Amino acid sequence: MKLALVGAGQAGGKVMEAIMMYDRRAEVGFVADAIAVNTARADLVGLEATPLERRVLIGGARLKGHGTGADNELGADVARDDLTEVMRAVDDVAVHEIDAFLVIAGLGGGTGSGAAPVIARELRRRHAEPVYGLGILPSRTEGNIYTLNAARSFVTLVDQVDNLLLFDNDAWREGGESLRTSYDRLNAEIARRLGVLFSAGEVKEGQAVGESVVDASEIINTLGSGGISTLGYAATAVDRPKPRLFARRQPAPDVGDSTNRILTTVRRAALGRLTLPCELAGVERGLLVAAGPPAYLDRRGIERARRWLEETTGSMEIRGGDYPLDSGYVAAVVLLSGVSDVPRIEELKATAVETQQRVRELEADADAPEALRDLTWSGEADDGD
Ligand code: GDP
Repeated sequence: MKLALVGAGQAGGKVMEAIMMYDRRAEVGFVADAIAVNTARADLVGLEATPLERRVLIGGARLKGHGTGADNELGADVARDDLTEVMRAVDDVAVHEIDAFLVIAGLGGGTGSGAAPVIARELRRRHAEPVYGLGILPSRTEGNIYTLNAARSFVTLVDQVDNLLLFDNDAWREGGESLRTSYDRLNAEIARRLGVLFSAGEVKEGQAVGESVVDASEIINTLGSGGISTLGYAATAVDRPKPRLFARRQPAPDVGDSTNRILTTVRRAALGRLTLPCELAGVERGLLVAAGPPAYLDRRGIERARRWLEETTGSMEIRGGDYPLDSGYVAAVVLLSGVSDVPRIEELKATAVETQQRVRELEADADAPEALRDLTWSGEADDGD
């Protein structure tokens, strides 16, 4: 499935590049184009994989390239003011070659959080292709302003995209690790999941074609129109039989083992840590992709895994397919779409409401400027952005 990526803000740009790097390493080519949008010149300069002419500075006249300082209303304002600049870059995208747009942003900051909904809305107004969002939720330790921004941006963005894929930094951080040092690891996890999903169906020259390939329309139908999605991933190493030098036929793996391996890997993908943890029961639609050496992609295994996912989610709309890949493991990606029971989103909204109420009280109290600052700005992210 071919995508044009738009990365807004610092996280948006970095996650976009992690996806581009995955695509280059796998030599698939599902990224047809990539545009980085930012108010901070330094963040644009720091990018590595995005061509210079695909980096768009917005708000230059007002912010002088210094960013929004986590003010997402300002992020939205300057995106609206400079939307022509962004769309000028989009005009160069060979839209007839792509299946969808993917707008990527950290929802807790200022630029991506504010600009992503503005950009997504305009893309949808101008183009018939679906526009998806990939939103990064902040960690709980980043402070209230990040929670407030994320809650606001989530509500706006979900309305402006055909589907919003979410990744929760908080759920993915390991104990003792600082959030900043974990970004590369988190971005690689995001890229691997999206990479396997969107690579499926993009057949490389000389590569085996799967028995039941996933094509773009199946991904698009699973994402549907509206709602939020989460992704699971798991991989199991395979002991590939050593090729016999002069044998006519190479030894085939045991079929029963292959069936079970796929079923177990899909179960681990769905029951393990999802990009956005949620209850599986009640999910509206799902898609599983089993990737690996063709001889190990057992059809019956995929069908059994598909039925298991149907039973577990209660959804009658679970699709399944394979993605032949020359590797030493069988991997499964599970896309769950139309998820509704998400404790993290409820918590985010509740904290945002509480903080807003408290901000109003403190604003009315002229003696409390310190308390107001502490309430909104204290947190791990305070030292940098
Ligand atoms: P912006 O540049 O104003 O849009 O702000 P950021 O992109 O820095 O957004 C801040 C949010 O994104 C915070 O919740 C950060 O934890 C998160 N974030 C920043 N950089 C990355 C990154 O490279 N990876 C991930 N997963 N999250 C990031």
